[in-house]
Amino acid sequence: MLKIFNDHCKAYSGSLFKKIIRLFEQLLYPLKCLNCRVYIDPELVKPNTMEACFCGHCMELGFYPIQTPYCMKCGVKFQTDFNENHVCESCLTIPLKLDRVRATLEYKGIIKNAIPLFKYHSKLSMAKVFERLLFETFLHQYARSKIDLIMPVPLHKKKLRERGFNQAYLLIRNFVKQYQYSFDQPPSWKIDTISLARIKRTQPQTGFDIEKRKANLKNAFKVVNPKIIYDKHILLIDDVFTTGATCNEAARVLLKNGAKKVDALVLART
Ligand SMILES: [Zn+2]
Ligand SMILES: [Zn+2]
Repeated sequence: MLKIFNDHCKAYSGSLFKKIIRLFEQLLYPLKCLNCRVYIDPELVKPNTMEACFCGHCMELGFYPIQTPYCMKCGVKFQTDFNENHVCESCLTIPLKLDRVRATLEYKGIIKNAIPLFKYHSKLSMAKVFERLLFETFLHQYARSKIDLIMPVPLHKKKLRERGFNQAYLLIRNFVKQYQYSFDQPPSWKIDTISLARIKRTQPQTGFDIEKRKANLKNAFKVVNPKIIYDKHILLIDDVFTTGATCNEAARVLLKNGAKKVDALVLART
């Protein structure tokens, strides 16, 4: 009887202790909307969700997961009621070097504010949210593909030093762990952050048309060790896909150096 009473006291004091710690955390680090800084009640949201990063008002900007219909090659969402995936006009006219591109979200609504906050203002609390969303798309689109290497699109070393992180890498940092958790076995692919390097410091692509983007990226990438990528099916990872010039140039260089097939998985695309 005494033991039960003691256990009960321990459990009660344990949960009370946790509650006190949580209250202190909330006082010291109150949950605030990353966009407008308004307070978010932590009791009303799940951790590591968009709702834990942005208030209800900012979430009203909209959140747009990409669902059918989309282009089977470049992954662009078709804004029509016709509900079947097909290949878009642009992919039929100028085929990409990439075999197929898949994106989790449309680059509009709240995500258009969220990605620059993550990337340029180091709001890294979003990394886990984005990674979870991207992993769901990965499972849906690539779990049955025979991928050998997953490669975040590299940054130039000077840019990496300035920013302090490669946003594409943060999107897949725990993919192995997540895969193991989902399938109870290690994945057959590896994450490779060294075989592809960015050797040219390119201008920011914003405001450039497609031709200028291509010229800006010319000779930007180099394969460090062609043996590692030879005959491999590679999945490139990036945060945003606009014209696709960056991923496509990386794919061109990988294919030229012996890769078998290159796909891209991105968090958001226009
Ligand atoms: Zn807000
Ligand atoms: Zn297309």
